[in-house]
Amino acid sequence: MSLTLKLFRASKNGYRIIPRRFDSNCSNFKYVCVTPPEPSMTMSAITDRAAQTIFWTELVRGFAVTLSNIFKEPATINYPFEKGPLSPRFRGEHALRRYPSGEERCIACKLCEAICPAQAITIEAESREDGSRRTTRYDIDMTKCIYCGFCQEACPVDAIVEGPNFEFSTETHEELLYNKEKLLNNGDKWESEIASNIYADHLYR
Ligand code: SF4
Ligand code: SF4
Repeated sequence: MSLTLKLFRASKNGYRIIPRRFDSNCSNFKYVCVTPPEPSMTMSAITDRAAQTIFWTELVRGFAVTLSNIFKEPATINYPFEKGPLSPRFRGEHALRRYPSGEERCIACKLCEAICPAQAITIEAESREDGSRRTTRYDIDMTKCIYCGFCQEACPVDAIVEGPNFEFSTETHEELLYNKEKLLNNGDKWESEIASNIYADHLYR
């Protein structure tokens, strides 16, 4: 019987390599055809194999492995009902934050727009009557964004952040064209998590 194995080492397990190219695209003998070793015909080897067949030792060993793992905590989680831990530095969906007074943090300096390598951010701004400068338009094309985090690193007032939300898949492209209202809503929704993440990471910033 011929088996096809990848990068098989001939020195192991007594397999015999037939050195011919498995794939004509292979530039070297990366893939080889091997044949399993002939079973030993000594009396002790024959009785061993017979005993394994009669007493189902392989089956019993398989059940032992199953039983030894059945009471262990599973490595998998039942997503979306269970979720794994997230780092405070996780870079998820963007959000624009406000101060506790409700005033938006963004001062329309456009540093985030300038640094964005994907040119995903578009900002327009004007001065208010009180002389403060605020954005009139803050758009992020989330389909261009590469989640590099440069915008939040550049922001001097922690206004634009990448929050912990990673469940924002959509069915249409238009739904991923975020405007200022959407970003501010995200900020309001995730403010407590975002604030605690920033605090957890403040020593390293
Ligand atoms: S995370 Fe990077 S690519 Fe995305 S908007 Fe911010 S700076 Fe641009
Ligand atoms: S989000 Fe931050 S970096 Fe971007 S324009 Fe506003 S204040 Fe400047």
